[in-house]
Amino acid sequence: RRPRAPLTAHRLTVAYDGFTALDDVGLTLAPGTVTAVVGPNGAGKSTLFHCLSGTLRPGSGHVEFDGQDITRRPAHARTRLGIARTFQQLAVFESLSVADNVRVGAEQGRTRDPGSVTRALRLTGLDTAGLRDRPAADLPTGTLRRVELARALAGDPYVLLLDEPAAGLDSAEAERLSRMLAALAAEGMALLVVEHDLDLVATVADTVHVLTAGRITDSGPPDAVLARAAHAAGGSRAAGEV
Ligand code: ADP
Ligand code: MG
Repeated sequence: RRPRAPLTAHRLTVAYDGFTALDDVGLTLAPGTVTAVVGPNGAGKSTLFHCLSGTLRPGSGHVEFDGQDITRRPAHARTRLGIARTFQQLAVFESLSVADNVRVGAEQGRTRDPGSVTRALRLTGLDTAGLRDRPAADLPTGTLRRVELARALAGDPYVLLLDEPAAGLDSAEAERLSRMLAALAAEGMALLVVEHDLDLVATVADTVHVLTAGRITDSGPPDAVLARAAHAAGGSRAAGEV
């Protein structure tokens, strides 16, 4: 059974020692769509990501998935429910082979189906004899990012959360990633991509939210958000503000 209900965040607020990193933020991740959150460093993107993946409890607000309040569920329980994530700092076991890293993801996931390992390796282009059995320690960053993605997919998630998935990728690898994400959304998965680069997400996102100093300051289809961002930049230059 696929959940028809989205993952939703309502009025999330997070403060670190009195500094408000996230201020009344809400969003919806609907099945079959790609949602992007963009914003400069320090805007609160990772803080929002941690609230959704379960590594941080918000000071107020809540997170719902498939009709349940999961605000207080820890990260591993959310993984079991079908909310998978990748890590900005790669979390690959260097001594394990590519396939064994992906098996770990299957064991932690929703279905615990060994067959999903093969499928995840195929989806990420890691199902070649030369790659499958290589120790992860030997692999370049672009390939490790695919191992990380395959590990998350091997849990058969309904929702996939990606924090800066294009960091360290060249433009060909970033394009390949965009195509993979579009294919996953087309199969009904709900995706969230957190990125600082608006142009990069423009090709793949259905909806973009702009996070500025902890608040969502603009939302909409990427074309409209990009146009408003360009207009705002042009306007401030015309006013001599930079
Ligand atoms: P982004 O991912 O958009 O770069 P973060 O969510 O990492 O932003 O950080 C948002 C703000 O919160 C930044 O000002 C950052 O310095 C601060 N911050 C993040 N994590 C912590 C923490 N554990 N303790 C104190 N301040 C933090
Ligand atoms: Mg971050």
